[in-house]
Amino acid sequence: MKYADRMENLNASEIRELLKVTDRPEVISFAGGLPAAELFPIEEMAAASMTVLKSNGEKALQYSTTEGYLPLRKWIAERENSRIGTALTEENIIITHGSQQALDLIGKLLINKDDVVLCESPTYLSALNVFKTFEGKILEVQTDDEGMIVSDLERLLETTENVKLLYVIPTFQNPSGKTWSLKRKQQILEVANRYDVAIIEDAPYEELRYSGESTLPMFSFPRSENVIRTGSFSKILCPGLRLGWIAAAPEVVEKLVLIKQSTDLQCNTLAQMQIHQFIQDNDIDAHIVRLIETYRLRRDAAISAIEKYFPKNIRYTHPEGGLFIWLELPEEINTTDLLEKSLKRNVAFVSGESFYAEQPKYNTMRLNFSCMDEEKIDAGIMILGELVTEELVE
Ligand code: PMP
Repeated sequence: MKYADRMENLNASEIRELLKVTDRPEVISFAGGLPAAELFPIEEMAAASMTVLKSNGEKALQYSTTEGYLPLRKWIAERENSRIGTALTEENIIITHGSQQALDLIGKLLINKDDVVLCESPTYLSALNVFKTFEGKILEVQTDDEGMIVSDLERLLETTENVKLLYVIPTFQNPSGKTWSLKRKQQILEVANRYDVAIIEDAPYEELRYSGESTLPMFSFPRSENVIRTGSFSKILCPGLRLGWIAAAPEVVEKLVLIKQSTDLQCNTLAQMQIHQFIQDNDIDAHIVRLIETYRLRRDAAISAIEKYFPKNIRYTHPEGGLFIWLELPEEINTTDLLEKSLKRNVAFVSGESFYAEQPKYNTMRLNFSCMDEEKIDAGIMILGELVTEELVE
């Protein structure tokens, strides 16, 4: 088969490969970014689905509009307005199959071959793959505890041609778990505007805050016309229904509609109506509070296990929300080698190197803490701590 050139840039995701191993029940997996399945509202979803099919079955099983189910778009717009102080209407919203498809549609909309996409270092692996699919050139901007480093972004914009897009995850970032400060968001938006570069502000974790104070996203700031926001039901409800959204200026949404038509015509009608019905019949905020309470305990268990079992000369993030902790081990440790050893002891994680667009740090690793109880978290991190300690002794 003569594959398209773009295939040369794409490699099998280490995480997807790993998840195959982690299906085994004896494996303690910190690898995937899976929400806690035991918290899925299964009964309520079954009821919502049944209500939709019984009361509106012909519509639910029929083709529908590319923009998405109107009552759901309206609900998303209103919820965004009340959460982040925007003035959105349904015209600002297109429903997508997860925020992953949102990234793909935006990639198709904006990226020409060899256009430059700037992203955080490290960043979300599957976003990198989207940008590679469109044959964009990805450059990484250095980050610190407050977000992207302004001077590094300015340096790149000053010295690089064809920068089209800035891709960022300012809240509970994947993989680092870090959250940008308000000031940093203001500065980065100002710089992006100065160089006329569009921003994707990817926000799938924003509602999962366990401590600290939230600040508004760039999308809600003045002069944010070039910011496109992506959201998702995956982490606040369930990922299996594959629904998310893009919030953007109406003219951007119109263009995205053209693109989505050629991709898949529309999102699954039944799933959209089902989620909308679920929201009508249940208190989604109360559901999110339950998630937060459970995930907070798991985050705390993971942090105290790291403190207890890992050597002292490592660095790790203290996420205020989201699903991930990021560790930086002493430089002599290669976490891909460590992973091989830990899998032999039935513990999985993701080594950090796949999250870098340019210069991997081989001594980094990502731990997910959302999908198992505190006891298992403690047991798994104990094994990882032992392995790291052994490596340092050798
Ligand atoms: N963006 C980020 C930063 C993610 O971590 C993920 C998935 N974990 C996605 C987008 C895609 O999620 P989904 O398609 O399920 O909304």
